[in-house]
Amino acid sequence: MARTLLDKVWEAHSVRTLPSGQTQLLIGLHLIHEVTTPQAFQMLKDLKLKVRMPERTFGTLDHIIPTTDQRRPYADPEAEEMAAHMYRNIKEFGLPLFDMATGKQGIVHVIGPELGLSQPGMTIACGDSHTSTHGAVGAIAFGIGTTQVRDILATQCLSMAKPKLRQVRVEGVLAKGVYAKDVILAIIGTLGVKGGVGYAYEYAGDTIDRMTMEERLTLCNMSIEGGARFGYVNPDATTIEYLRGRPYAPQGAAFDRAAAWWKTIATEPGAAFDDVKHLDGGAIEPVVTWGINPGMSVGVSEKIPAPEDQPEAERPTFREALAHMGFAAGQPIKGAKIDVAFVGSCTNGRLSDLRIAAEVAKKGKVASHVRALIVPGSQQVAKAAEAEGLHEIFLAAGFQWRKAGCSMCLGMNEDKLQGREMSASSSNRNFIGRQGSPTGRTLLMSPAMVAAAAITGAVTDVREILK
Ligand code: SF4
Repeated sequence: MARTLLDKVWEAHSVRTLPSGQTQLLIGLHLIHEVTTPQAFQMLKDLKLKVRMPERTFGTLDHIIPTTDQRRPYADPEAEEMAAHMYRNIKEFGLPLFDMATGKQGIVHVIGPELGLSQPGMTIACGDSHTSTHGAVGAIAFGIGTTQVRDILATQCLSMAKPKLRQVRVEGVLAKGVYAKDVILAIIGTLGVKGGVGYAYEYAGDTIDRMTMEERLTLCNMSIEGGARFGYVNPDATTIEYLRGRPYAPQGAAFDRAAAWWKTIATEPGAAFDDVKHLDGGAIEPVVTWGINPGMSVGVSEKIPAPEDQPEAERPTFREALAHMGFAAGQPIKGAKIDVAFVGSCTNGRLSDLRIAAEVAKKGKVASHVRALIVPGSQQVAKAAEAEGLHEIFLAAGFQWRKAGCSMCLGMNEDKLQGREMSASSSNRNFIGRQGSPTGRTLLMSPAMVAAAAITGAVTDVREILK
């Protein structure tokens, strides 16, 4: 019988079936960062346990670090304390840490693939919801909580129920000015933020086949925003060429052997899915969220929907969203004024994202009332962008060029919205308070759309700037 990648990877990592019916899964790669580990390490110390497989555990600093001056001690005492905990724990348990001194620091979901740590056929876990990102290389990758971080540190295993599998097929050529971010926002807008609950998503179809690995990383990153436990793309030639030569990928003949195996774990033709959904990629236009979850979105040429047009159960959330955002039903999203523009995060903080944003930044200057930040996803992204002179394009246009970190994706560091500021953001969550101000407002969009909004001062159709 034809099998899916999920079947094969799950089976290969299954230690046993637990009495609960869940599977005890071996975790091939455990990525850790400063926020979800202090308590987990403390629990290990209390139990007098060691890290079971230190060679499969890698740490970085990302959520709390400043993106201006990254010298310690950090100005924020809470950030400094978290960093100090991380350094102490890493040393005590003998684990590698990609900190600023290594030149490899960055957002955990940017550096995993970038360093070749994330590979096809792996199970990957990290104490952060957007671990689904790593599914782009053909891995089963999911976020976990602090207690599960402890479990993996102590046993390298996790108990989990195998989700159902939905294939999301996107076919057609994307229009100019439409990117992977628009595709995933369109998927979530169509299937809903709870549409994926109980499922994993396999992304397929010729639109996905043509995507670069960085585009697939953007796509898989937001699987969790659609309610899916994780999402993946089957490994193919694009995957193999992306991983070739990366420092933690196999090298030489070992790489060829690995690549041959990676091809065998892809879903086989004729494999059955619990569900299949289809999207027309050619019909997608640049997408902008207008509400308080990533499913509340419209095409840039569309109007904000009315609560009365929604199913009864969803109307209260729609009303809350309109009130919070200060929008009226029927209002076009295009032209909504912004105060802050943010290009970065594990969704869209990679080199290709910065290149696209720079293309748009060349067309104008940041509007006088807008604060615009470009935050590379890793030190290596920053270095590569600077080698191409992208930072000079941004600085000349009036953007701030920052150091690598999570930055304004979430309000855990000094990059925060103030008051009711409206942000055009390339990140992944627009929940109330996400960007650091309880009254702040977030419009999610692609990096190109963020750059366009930065220079016009309002939501703009980037296709008009790029033509
Ligand atoms: S960039 Fe945002 S979503 Fe990604 S790891 Fe950092 S805080 Fe989490």
